[in-house]
Formats: sequence, structure tokens, C-alpha cells
Amino acid sequence: MNKYKSIEQVISPPAPHMVGDGFRVHNFFPGSKTVGLQRMSPFFLMDYGSKIEFSGTNTPRGVGVHPHRGFETVTIVYHGKVAHHDSAGNSGVIGEGDVQWMTAASGILHKEYHEKEWSKNGGLFQMVQLWVNLPAKYKMSKPKYQPIEGERFGRFLLPGNQGLVEVIAGNFNGAKGPANTFTPIEMYNVKVKKGANVIFSFPEYFNTGFLIIEGNVILNNKEVNTNNFALFANNGTDIIVEANEDSVILVLSGEPIDESIVPYGPFLMNTKEEIMQAYEDLNKGKFGYLED
Ligand code: MN
Repeated sequence: MNKYKSIEQVISPPAPHMVGDGFRVHNFFPGSKTVGLQRMSPFFLMDYGSKIEFSGTNTPRGVGVHPHRGFETVTIVYHGKVAHHDSAGNSGVIGEGDVQWMTAASGILHKEYHEKEWSKNGGLFQMVQLWVNLPAKYKMSKPKYQPIEGERFGRFLLPGNQGLVEVIAGNFNGAKGPANTFTPIEMYNVKVKKGANVIFSFPEYFNTGFLIIEGNVILNNKEVNTNNFALFANNGTDIIVEANEDSVILVLSGEPIDESIVPYGPFLMNTKEEIMQAYEDLNKGKFGYLED
């Protein structure tokens, strides 16, 4: 058995597209031709909003009311502020360094905008949105909403002043993440200083990828630059991170959900019939109501 996971691919950021007028994102998967539909399961989608400057405006940019069913959206804000409202009556602001973990499950309508006051001046914006699949038995469970302020992350201080691991979900060396997940997921912000040398270990069968938010690192002897995504093969367990400069890495690792899926638009279900049902339920108003 290999001890070290090998890197299957380093993916540079695909050409960006706009989601509404507020989110300029690189879709690393499932859009990438080189990454299979379920390759990063339970993570189905990763939209990365690399750094961009927005000018000030009194009309906040964003994306209007739209539905989701069958999965969770996880929004991680590195720079800027995102406001959110949904038809389950939840709303909030995801500030710099915060995470919002929204379980759409049986269905919600929501809208996502730059926060109003932040929008007036505009500024630097950087974020990630993940779609996390749910096992069939949880797809029609009740929607839920976990606002996770950065101060609630688990924190593991790396020895020798090498930096910090912020644990959003899972457990790193005893530091536990506050997110409740339906399947085993490890999600960290790794903030390492130049010269740091840190080992991570995940089960061989967990799908694992590192997105470089800032800096430049060597992952198991391969250099990976800012805004690139390193997808690891399902061999070995360990990943050595060596920081060439002060760096921030979004670490994703999770147990795959071994079920067939049918994604369509804003829905992620197991069968075509369930997709048709989702549209029928949406048209019947079963996703509730939310003002635009
Ligand atoms: Mn959405």
C-alpha cells in the first residue's frame, strides 16, 4: 500500500462565468471535462470565485430567487460579504471568513446577493460555493440552515509557529468542525506560513482535493499555485504540504456516496422521475414563497 496519495491532476482555473451579476466563478467540477461527474463525491459541484474587485453600487449584485432540491450548498467567503434569504424563513450575512451550510434537501427557494452596505463601497471579493450531495434517504428531509461564523471553526495551531488549521467540518488532530454533515466530510482552511511542513491523512477511499486560495505550495512533491485545484488519486493516505510562501488551502475530503445520480439544473436527484417530480412540486408551489 502506498503511504502517500499521488496527485491525479492539477487543474488550472477554467474560464470564468457569471452566476447572476454578482458571482464570477470558475467551475472546477462537474463542468471540467477531465473530472468525472462523481469523481469528488460527496462534493458534486465546486464554483470558485477567485479574487475580483467590485465597484460600489446602491443596487447589490447577486442572483435572484431560484430553487434547490436534493443536496446542500456550502458557501465559504474569503473576501466580501454575501447576504442570503430563503423560503424556509432563514436569512443571514456570510461575512469575511464565515461559512454558510444550507441543506436544501426536500426543497427551498433562495436568493444570494452581495450584502447591501458592503455593496455601497464594493471591494475585494473571493468565495467558494460547493454543492454537497445527500444520500437518497436524506434527499427529501427537512431543509436546514447552519450559519457558521469563522470564530466557531475548530482551531489547531501548528507547532513551531507554522500556522493554523481551521476545521469547518470533521476533525483534525482533535480540533472538531462545527458543521453537522450527513456523510463523513473533512473540510478545512489551512493557513500555513512560508516554510511550513504539515502532514494530512485521509482514508484511501475518501475523495480528496485541495484548492489553493492563496500562495504556492508543494503537495507530495508537486508544486501547486494559487487558484489551482489538486485532485488526489484514491491511493495512499498521506499528503505532505510544504509552503513556498504564506498560503491558504481549502482542504476537501469525503466518503463517496455510492449511488447513481441525475443532476438537472438546480436539482440533484437519483432518478429522472425524481427530477420531473421536482419541477412538478416547484410549479405547485411546494418549495414555498420568497419575494424577489
Ligand atoms: Mn443557490
